[in-house]
Amino acid sequence: MTAHHIDGKALSQHVQDEIGKATALLKEAYGKTPTLTVVLVGEDPASQVYVRSKIKATEACGLHSLEHRLPASASEEMVKGLVRDLSQSDDVDGILVQLPLPDHISSHAVINAIAPEKDVDGLTEISAGRLALGKPGLHPCTPTGCVMLAKQALGELTGKHVVIIGRSILVGRPAAQLFLAENCTVTIAHSKTDDLPAVCRQADILVPAVGRPQFVQGDWIKPGATVIDVGINRIDAPEKGAGKTRLVGDVDFDSAQAVAGHITPVPGGVGPMTIACLMRNTLLAACARRGWQIPDPQNEPA
Ligand code: NAP
Repeated sequence: MTAHHIDGKALSQHVQDEIGKATALLKEAYGKTPTLTVVLVGEDPASQVYVRSKIKATEACGLHSLEHRLPASASEEMVKGLVRDLSQSDDVDGILVQLPLPDHISSHAVINAIAPEKDVDGLTEISAGRLALGKPGLHPCTPTGCVMLAKQALGELTGKHVVIIGRSILVGRPAAQLFLAENCTVTIAHSKTDDLPAVCRQADILVPAVGRPQFVQGDWIKPGATVIDVGINRIDAPEKGAGKTRLVGDVDFDSAQAVAGHITPVPGGVGPMTIACLMRNTLLAACARRGWQIPDPQNEPA
């Protein structure tokens, strides 16, 4: 068996195209465009790349983007003050604080200064609590992307046994809540789980979010299962030349694709969906806060 590759790039493009259409209709109906504000503290090169790609996607969707840069020496009070001001500004619909923050600043304190209705990363305590209680709200982007990819592969998810490897606040825990909301049976595995391969073999849908390159082996996967690989790891790639590197997931792709029914590649799987879900959250946040009806581009005359 060779697994069907789930194309995260294509699904992400589709979602962003739909957001672009909805944004144009909102502009027509209400004369305004949803605005995403990104806060970047310091000069971390990887963070700068992520912020650039988020701003590019925002603009490609026709959304409005603002960027606030603070020096690495900024105090926690300064960053929290900026986030509070943005939370109160009527012009701002979504606030994203690029992580990690410099060591002297508490991410927890800064994130929780974001108004929950503008929390497009879904990371405040209020957003996490609403998700845990099954109430509507803004949900973290990467886990939302995982569910969308699983639905793209399988359609209905009810009754599927999902095994998530990882219990982080950013990925593992919210992914478990979101799959539970789809009526899945959910197991969360972590570094203290006994006989991880045997637990993984029970999964209809396996979601590794570990941060260890090529960790999950093909013989941990039930034949025909769906694998949604969240991991993004950079490894040496001497085959590409001296000093070259490449990205791999948490799954050993070659052995896994010989067993799985569906699998996401890395890159080109979960990563692009994270950005698409950020755009989607910005649109949802604007509509909820401003009382706008979300237009359905499918129902509009051509
Ligand atoms: P994290 O906070 O470091 O959490 C890793 C989790 O993996 C922890 O819960 C840890 O268990 C578990 N773990 C570590 N070693 C293990 C082992 N040997 N066996 C079983 N479980 C083990 O990482 P994260 O933020 O969730 O991110 C995970 C991966 O996803 C990383 O590669 C990251 O780059 C990637 N990521 C990708 C996207 C995307 O857009 N595609 C977004 C976010 C993150 P304990 O809790 O017991 O320590």
